[in-house]
Amino acid sequence: MRRYAIIGSGAAGIAAAEAIRTSDAAAEINLISDDPHGFYSRPGLAYFLTGELPEDGLFPFSDKDFSNLRIRRIRGQAEQIDPQAHTLQISQGPTLPFDRLLIATGACASRPSMPGIDLEGVVKLDHLEDARRILHLAHRAKTVVVVGGGITALEIVEGLRARGKRTHYFLRGDRYWSNVLDEHESRLIEQRLQAEGVQLHYQTELSEIIGSKGQVAAVRTQDGRLIKTDMLAFAIGIQPRKTLAVQCGVMTDRGILVDDHLQTNLPDIFSAGDVAQVFDPISGKSVLDSLWGPARSQGTTAGKNMAGADEVYRKPAAFNVTRLSGLTTTIIGNVGKGPDGDLLTIARGDSETFRQLPDAITAQADFNVNHLRVLVGERHLLGAIVMGDQTLSKPLQHLVIRRAEITPIRQQLIQGTAALADILADFWIQWRSKDAQTLA
Ligand SMILES: Cc1cc2nc3c(=O)[nH]c(=O)nc-3n(C[C@H](O)[C@H](O)[C@H](O)COP(=O)(O)OP(=O)(O)OC[C@H]3O[C@@H](n4cnc5c(N)ncnc54)[C@H](O)[C@@H]3O)c2cc1C
Repeated sequence: MRRYAIIGSGAAGIAAAEAIRTSDAAAEINLISDDPHGFYSRPGLAYFLTGELPEDGLFPFSDKDFSNLRIRRIRGQAEQIDPQAHTLQISQGPTLPFDRLLIATGACASRPSMPGIDLEGVVKLDHLEDARRILHLAHRAKTVVVVGGGITALEIVEGLRARGKRTHYFLRGDRYWSNVLDEHESRLIEQRLQAEGVQLHYQTELSEIIGSKGQVAAVRTQDGRLIKTDMLAFAIGIQPRKTLAVQCGVMTDRGILVDDHLQTNLPDIFSAGDVAQVFDPISGKSVLDSLWGPARSQGTTAGKNMAGADEVYRKPAAFNVTRLSGLTTTIIGNVGKGPDGDLLTIARGDSETFRQLPDAITAQADFNVNHLRVLVGERHLLGAIVMGDQTLSKPLQHLVIRRAEITPIRQQLIQGTAALADILADFWIQWRSKDAQTLA
């Protein structure tokens, strides 16, 4: 009987456990997690904050699902891995022997260092306990300040605004999420935030959080303004939780480096999900994602390989379907480039590949609040953004991810036409039927 240890009960860890159980009926599977709530939807936390989703709606697995999978769940923090002895030390717990180990420890919010950061009322949004804490503090708070960028900052802004809080959103630069969205898209989001009553502060950087009796009372900006607030939320990017790996000699860069089988440099130790830095065949680089879908598919491949399969993980173009200021938005492939002053690293629901746009021509069209932008390469679409009407979301995911040959419509696309959506819709119908014939 093979003994498997999985550190982390997130999307990657659970997918790996399912894959192992499917491949190895007799396996002993130990799942170690330091999150008291186990497995739940982290993207769902945004909807929990706004009040659209009750807490019990966050949990996709019941106790029965776990017992059907015959997983032993161990609550505790994995503290040390001994790769030679094949053992894992759990805090105030047993030393666990393993034959195969998966490190799926995810990522945590980067923490700004500044005076006042430890005051009561300073919050972030990593996990369910954070979301509960935000809601608890929001009961008494009247005014909140949010700093940072990407999806998480906006989710906190929207969650608190939905709870009726006077919300200030500080942006270091001139616009929101500038290395993924183009100027028009940023403005669309900003206008919607302003219409909801959010007060945007451009070119505004925090210099100090001021407390009173240990509690946040105000913030000072670098240009000397003082804004009274009861809460300060930050979302300036995330850091893969790689300390355990570093300590035991697993090779790391920004995350844990894995090969195309999701194995680390050490025998029998694998990694998947937000903590793993995975080779991207399109850019030729090893990249980080913080996306639910890739975390699950990496977990599945890692689990199969841990159980003896020989499966290559081919990273597809990244995509995310999310909501930005109430506007459903799909982001696919390479759509932007350059740094973003509001984020030190990638954010949640983000991928380093979103901002690796090589030379491309932009084609875009707008109709009411609906917006479509596609990045046109020599023979393929490199990326796309679909805001509002999502009719083209799935087709574009397929066309970008499957690298459809777009030569027949390339000229039409780059001519700049309002009929962009129709051209793509027609092309999709033709491509899909050809693809179906090829597959048949
Ligand atoms: C607020 C928010 C919004 C998001 N929005 C989106 C979105 O719109 N779209 C999208 O695709 N993705 C989104 N994501 C990201 C997505 O949820 C993650 O990519 C995904 O959860 C990663 O799964 P994972 O298994 O790698 O890590 P995680 O889900 O982070 O799980 C890691 C687990 O490991 C545990 N752990 C870490 N270290 C140890 C240790 N030493 N010992 C024991 N346990 C340990 C942690 O407690 C945690 O349970 C969002 C995430 C958040 C938090």
